[in-house]
Amino acid sequence: MAKLIDGKTISTQIKDEVKAETEKLKEKGIKVSLAVIQVGNDPASSVYVRNKKKACEYCGIESLSYELPESTTEEELLKLIRDLNDNPECNGILVQLPLPKSINEEKILDEISPLKDVDGFHPVNVGALSIGKPGFVSCTPAGVIELIKRSGYSIEGKECVVIGRSNIVGKPMAMLLLRENGTVTVTHSRTKDLKEVTKRADILVVAIGKPKMIDASYVKEGAVVIDVGIHRNEDNKLCGDVDFESAEPHCSAITPVPGGVGPMTIAMLMKNCLESVKLQNRV
Ligand code: NDP
Repeated sequence: MAKLIDGKTISTQIKDEVKAETEKLKEKGIKVSLAVIQVGNDPASSVYVRNKKKACEYCGIESLSYELPESTTEEELLKLIRDLNDNPECNGILVQLPLPKSINEEKILDEISPLKDVDGFHPVNVGALSIGKPGFVSCTPAGVIELIKRSGYSIEGKECVVIGRSNIVGKPMAMLLLRENGTVTVTHSRTKDLKEVTKRADILVVAIGKPKMIDASYVKEGAVVIDVGIHRNEDNKLCGDVDFESAEPHCSAITPVPGGVGPMTIAMLMKNCLESVKLQNRV
């Protein structure tokens, strides 16, 4: 039986570490804060925003809440971001996606100061990652690295295959595995023989957005399999991009859905908030 990689426990460890550090900063008179901006009231976004605020509270991070109406214009949102960029009371800025169609998401994300870009989406931070300079890293792939390392698996020298090349998961994931000295292959919808590639993976990271697509026939015996996908099936139950029942007997370790990668994303956001204070206060 494969070892279950427990994202709940590991994410709690990380949040406890952040909490301990925010307490130490408070003793020095430095507080940590995150501005959370939501435009409109998409129910899924509201759940994510609520969970982010809850995590802030747990970690001793102040959340500055901006709940804006659906009718907010691009100019109004840009102005808010410029104000927050200049506001020393605000360390991190998070804009909950998706934004209403009338607003250009890329324009908004590019306006966030790279020093406050705790989601790690700004081109400056994306570029820093690709040339090995310090900066904020997208939370989900950063969380995957923590899951692998804290579960006792080494990445160095391993064949690592990433399925998916999105800007928020696949690409930064590949850069991070490379930074950890893995031998990295990135696959996508145009990859010719996906199974032939994934069967080589000692570490397989799956971020396709297709429920249960990856079954045992894609997995090398003894691989570590990380499932980033998250979906609701017909019974309203959560499942991932990996067919867990099929793949699990062939893995040495695997993440469950829920309870694997999911909780790590918010924990890494909290870690990035702490980093933002360190950057801005140079502590
Ligand atoms: P995207 O839809 O942006 O990207 C999916 C990627 O998968 C694309 O690169 C696409 O290739 C590739 N792909 C699609 N079909 C195939 C196929 N048949 N074979 C090989 N590759 C394929 O998704 P995201 O990266 O944003 O998210 C991926 C999954 O992770 C989703 O389920 C999402 O919900 C989940 N997610 C979970 C998070 C968490 O916190 N747990 C956070 C973020 C995402 P191409 O580029 O060629 O189109």
